Amino acid sequence: MSLFDIHLLGAPVLRTRSREIADVDDTLRRTIDDMFETMDAAEGVGLASNQIGQTDRVAVVGVDDTRLVLINPTIAHAEGSTRAEEGCLSIPELFGEVTRAEHITLHAINADGEAYEHAAEGLLARAIQHEIDHLDGILFIDHLSILKRQMLLARWRKEYKGKELIRRFRPASTE
Ligand SMILES: [Zn+2]
Repeated sequence: MSLFDIHLLGAPVLRTRSREIADVDDTLRRTIDDMFETMDAAEGVGLASNQIGQTDRVAVVGVDDTRLVLINPTIAHAEGSTRAEEGCLSIPELFGEVTRAEHITLHAINADGEAYEHAAEGLLARAIQHEIDHLDGILFIDHLSILKRQMLLARWRKEYKGKELIRRFRPASTE
């Protein structure tokens, strides 16, 4: 097991649409294990392929006791709308209120290569929508008003000016 580096806002890979995965093999399963480990180390509730610098259509989500592997995920059904503050491991320390569907039905493939369906609401539904956005090259800031987005981006540029667009993790990091 090892931790991935997380790519930050400004890295082109975050704006790339990830490709469908044809085969679920051991290499992918190892990647998924490491994605969960990285997500936990970063104290996130989800992590998508693009964030670790890859462009295969896979993400992981973990909210409370529910841990889901999302290979080639789609939202088959969405209902209602809810607004809540959202952040992103690729845009540390910046948050904004995003409107998302309240109830969703996810269709995806798990680490055994089996298709499954999962009904979700609340934070889990939000995390799934956020991760699928990542696989399409979309970030949560894209859902904000232009004014709010410009404000966040100005803060981002100030904080991260001249810094590397990557966040490195060591096991047992205390940052
Ligand atoms: Zn994110």
